[in-house]
Parts: sequence; C-alpha cells; structure tokens
Amino acid sequence: MRIANHDGRLVLVSASGEDTEVGVDVETASGGKFSADPQAAYENWDQFRDWAADVRADASVTIERALLGPPVPRPRQVFAIGLNYREHAAESKMTGAAVPPTFTKFPTCLTGPYARVELPHGHVDWEVELVAVIGPAARRVSESRAWDHIAGLTVGQDLSERVSQLIPPAPQFSLAKSFPGFGPIGPAVVTPDELPDRDDLAIWCELDGETVQDARTSQMILNVPQLVAHLSSVVTLMPGDIIFTGTPSGVGQARDPQRFITPGCALVSGIEGLGQIETKFVA
Ligand code: ZN
Repeated sequence: MRIANHDGRLVLVSASGEDTEVGVDVETASGGKFSADPQAAYENWDQFRDWAADVRADASVTIERALLGPPVPRPRQVFAIGLNYREHAAESKMTGAAVPPTFTKFPTCLTGPYARVELPHGHVDWEVELVAVIGPAARRVSESRAWDHIAGLTVGQDLSERVSQLIPPAPQFSLAKSFPGFGPIGPAVVTPDELPDRDDLAIWCELDGETVQDARTSQMILNVPQLVAHLSSVVTLMPGDIIFTGTPSGVGQARDPQRFITPGCALVSGIEGLGQIETKFVA
C-alpha cells in the first residue's frame, strides 16, 4: 500500500504510470470512516491498513505532483540519526560514537516531495535518508518486534546549513537542519510488504543530474529495527512520528573542494521501491 498527501487530503495511490498516478480519496471511499487528514491515518493504523487492503471504491483522484504535500504532515516527534553509515562518519571526521547520535528536525521544516526551498545564508548541504514512519505506539520494543511498529517508509532529505550546524563550542544539529523546507519527504508512505527487501534498499541522491550519493540501506550501522529498539528504550514513539535514519557518504561538506547548494539547483533523492523526490532551490 502507498499513501500520499494530495492537496491536503489522504489518498491511497492505486496505480501509477509513466507520468500519471491515480489514487482513491480515503474519506470519500470510506464514507467518512477515515479522515481526509493524512496525519490521522497513523493513529488507527491497523484498522486503516485492514480497510485499505480490500477497498473497492470509485473515488478516484488524478494525482498532480504539484499538489503533493508531505505524507506525514504533523508528526508529534521527528527523530534524526547522525553518523549512521560508516563511510559518512569517516568523511565527517566524527568516528567512534558507540551509538549514533540522535537529534530532531523541528516539524515546521517538513515539506512535500516537489518543494521549492528558499536558501538561507550559509552553506546548505544535502543528505538523502530513509525515513521510517511509526504506526502503533512503541515503548521498550525489542528488535524482533520493531517492524510491527512501522507503518511504512518514505524518502527524505535532511537538508543542513553547515555553518550554524558546526559552530563552536557545541554543534547545533537540530536548529541548523530545521529552516523552512529543510525536511522534504515523500512522495508516498509505502508499507514494507511492497518492498523486495525492507532492510536492503538502494539509496541515491543527484545534484543537477550528477550522482553525489549512492549506497544501500543495509549499510546503516543501526538498522530500522535497532533504531526503534534504541529510541523506544528512552522515549515513547507515537503514531505518526518519523525517524530520519541517517545519510550515506557523499555530502558536500566532506568534498574537496567543498560543494554546497546554490540558487537554481535541483536535488533528486531516491530509494528503491519508494520512489523519488525533487527539491528546487531559490535565493
Ligand atoms: Zn542526516
């Protein structure tokens, strides 16, 4: 199952072609049983998934890319994991963490999969990431049960302004990664059963057509179940919370010479089986 936020309404993506996608409007097709609010689906995830599994409805919507919003628009909590791929930890010269560090992206930074993002002053960098969406709440969940608490996966960009992120004496990860538009996600939340191997997906990022990141999610130091177990040992993960799971190597800050996003740049971020998002930048 794939669900998207189309013009602020929850749709089940039912078919996709080369350039056209069709979906079912959830509120209309369910006769009001399920809300049009995309965030509400995660609150009663198991009931929603069961209904969606055999929906036979004629409430179809032609999906227009320009109208797609973030498929998880208002999570209570956004977790982000740093240094979760060895090569990225090495290029960042920040190796040796026993457990990859956790920070937040404040939820107002979230935006849709085809967003136009205004560049703030500083050095704005790219970080393609697998984003996991929590279904049923999770507290002290074991690795072996962790996937039961994942509603689905989507593609995200952990856009980062490096000057303010790395300012001494204490880095400001959360603030520097939360400018408006710095959390594009989408195009849809995809349930793990749709994927060839939910623990091993190709992940890539292209800046103006050039591949700058290219890896597999199986290279994560802590995989999705381990992250859910780790985070839920401390906090309660709530329905509709999201986890940015860390970026592979190839970010602009670590290049020689360094490279950052400039006005007019187009950034395409993709993950096998989940689709891709495209972010455009303006001054
Ligand atoms: Zn990141």
